[in-house]
Amino acid sequence: MLNVNLIDPIEFANGSMLQEGSVGLAQLDERIAQHEFLVPAETTLQYRLKGGVDKLQRPYLNLSLQGELTLMCQRCLTAMSLELDESVRIVLFSKEDVMDEAMDSDPELEGMLAEAELSVWSLLEDQIIMALPYAPRHDDCGNTDLERVNNDKPNPFAQLAKLKPNQ
Ligand SMILES: [Zn+2]
Repeated sequence: MLNVNLIDPIEFANGSMLQEGSVGLAQLDERIAQHEFLVPAETTLQYRLKGGVDKLQRPYLNLSLQGELTLMCQRCLTAMSLELDESVRIVLFSKEDVMDEAMDSDPELEGMLAEAELSVWSLLEDQIIMALPYAPRHDDCGNTDLERVNNDKPNPFAQLAKLKPNQ
């Protein structure tokens, strides 16, 4: 129970239940634990999941997630950090057509079909994946040699090397 962290989402929402705590990224599934530019080791996020019922009598889950992620800069391949502070309301539906209709009429709405069991960890995983930048990069990699290599301009050191006689 502790490892998969299952809830009954409808019961959780209708009972205005609350679950909060922290989760290490290394505990999550391979979408996170083996993500190409996430460095999950030793990263812990705080989360809060609160159930409720909205004014249309629809059960929902409010999820918020905070923490500092360590990512690999896709330009210089060294670590960079990303402050994560996400909140989302997920409205639970029992019928797909009702959900589709609701989501069509409200583009802001996040809907989910309610199943008997829902893994809180998979909710967190989805949220983390959605929050990740497409290609994380430092604003300034702070490594001028590397930037020079990545530039289209000729690298002055490479030019210099050509002048040296072959050894
Ligand atoms: Zn960088």
